[in-house]
Amino acid sequence: MVGGLACIAAGSIAGLFWPNPTRLTFLNVGQGDCAVFQTHGSTIIIDTGPADARSDAGSKIVVPKLREMGISGIDLILLSHPDMDHIGGTGAILHEYPSATLAVSSFFRHNHQLLEQLAKWGRRAEDVKWLGSELRGKIGEFNIRVECPPITENEETNDGSMIVRIADGEGSAVFTGDAPTKVEEEVEPLGDWHAEIMKAGHHGSHTATSQSWIESVRPEFAVISCGRNNRYGHPHKEVIDRLMEDKVQICRTDREGDIVFTFKNGRFVRD
Ligand SMILES: [Zn+2]
Repeated sequence: MVGGLACIAAGSIAGLFWPNPTRLTFLNVGQGDCAVFQTHGSTIIIDTGPADARSDAGSKIVVPKLREMGISGIDLILLSHPDMDHIGGTGAILHEYPSATLAVSSFFRHNHQLLEQLAKWGRRAEDVKWLGSELRGKIGEFNIRVECPPITENEETNDGSMIVRIADGEGSAVFTGDAPTKVEEEVEPLGDWHAEIMKAGHHGSHTATSQSWIESVRPEFAVISCGRNNRYGHPHKEVIDRLMEDKVQICRTDREGDIVFTFKNGRFVRD
């Protein structure tokens, strides 16, 4: 399936002379994840923020932000795993940007919550791009690699969180959804995960971001996406201590709001 994502991002060729800079934005969606990657006129979203019966970060936060950012179309929405703090905002985003392609690990093809949500969003399962275990493609000048860890029925959805790396030379970022340490260990030998920017797994929980994973990624920045005073105590002190010991700059959405990196001279620079 090498190159499978390149087709999705075919629109990027037309955007080669797009005046807007390449930018990676971690939106402050509270206790959840939502990252927006823009390059050469292509836009990819990795996770869509949380929603519950009372509140929907998609309509309240993500869509207004995307409008403010001047985004007129979305090429691809990658959903790391079907937990509501990662997929909750999808419906609102699809309503605003109906041509976006949804891509999900094929290991969640029969996940009840996901199928229920798909019906709510007015999407059929056949409309989803179900990703196999490994995919590589291009988004503008960036290489994108996606690993979907296999998951059995008895495992938690977190265990199937997709691992995504985008890279153009030194400018690179890696996303692990809520993948626990055992998944970090599984994917470590599968290739080069070095990234300037690491989204700390599982909102900075001690279940993720092992010492070994930090050494594989060797990040300059770790972004922790979590809600202020969240009930899980994220981020956990062990993770903060590990990152600080390795002199990784910690960026937290709960304290700093949206976290924006712009690609300049081949590297991501914090705005
Ligand atoms: Zn989560």
